[in-house]
Amino acid sequence: MAPVIHHMNCGTMCPHAGVRLALVPSDPGHIVCHCLLIEAADGLVLVDTGYGTGDIAAPKRLGPARLLLNAKLDREETAVARVRALGHDPADVRHVLATHLDLDHAGGLGDFPNAEVHVHSTELAAARAPKRDAKLRYRTAQWAHGPRWAAHDAVDGEPWFGFPRVRLLEGAGVEIAMIPLHGHTSGHTGVAVDTGDGWLLHAGDAYLDHGEIASPPRRGRALTAYHRVNSVDEALRRTNVERLAELARDPAVSVFCAHDPLELRRLG
Ligand SMILES: [Zn+2]
Repeated sequence: MAPVIHHMNCGTMCPHAGVRLALVPSDPGHIVCHCLLIEAADGLVLVDTGYGTGDIAAPKRLGPARLLLNAKLDREETAVARVRALGHDPADVRHVLATHLDLDHAGGLGDFPNAEVHVHSTELAAARAPKRDAKLRYRTAQWAHGPRWAAHDAVDGEPWFGFPRVRLLEGAGVEIAMIPLHGHTSGHTGVAVDTGDGWLLHAGDAYLDHGEIASPPRRGRALTAYHRVNSVDEALRRTNVERLAELARDPAVSVFCAHDPLELRRLG
């Protein structure tokens, strides 16, 4: 049976107009945290968590990036509130899949303390012991509760549309995989979900604006500069985005990223 999949905004951000224009030039109104809730046969699966109630209770835990991103920190937008609004018990979220552990993706982990948190092993290692600048993006207070981490890196023999894949949650009744898309962070991944009528690929922060995977691609100088500053391996990220642009032309796959509001409107 095809899984029911909900697209949710779990954290509106309203950075300074100049930053907005740089990040999502195609639609600079505001920026979202695009998360998925998947109703699988054996429970709920959440892909990314946006900002959580812990961030609202103690915004300072977000550190200096809070000022740049200017997250609204609206309780109604948290994943836990979204799950409840959809008529579910948050305790039924058995699995959280994190594209990566930047502060605008991992804030809600504490709202699902019993869920298993699946993440690429390289990402988990980088986030648990952040060095220098990485301390700005990885906010260890967001996982001070001690999540049940499940670190993955075993690539399946069978690629997914030419990409290496790490198969996850076998037996959950939904075909789901981590697609390593390193570059933005060292263990950044996409998450591919079989909808029963094609595939979704949540590409996390591999790119930020749908123009980046358009053909021909559109990216302004400000966005290029942003990626250069915020990627741990910009050359690798760029290579992955070129492959995503090619993939996006395949009608069997719907590719979207974490922060583009237009993509969320299209899919939500
Ligand atoms: Zn992000």
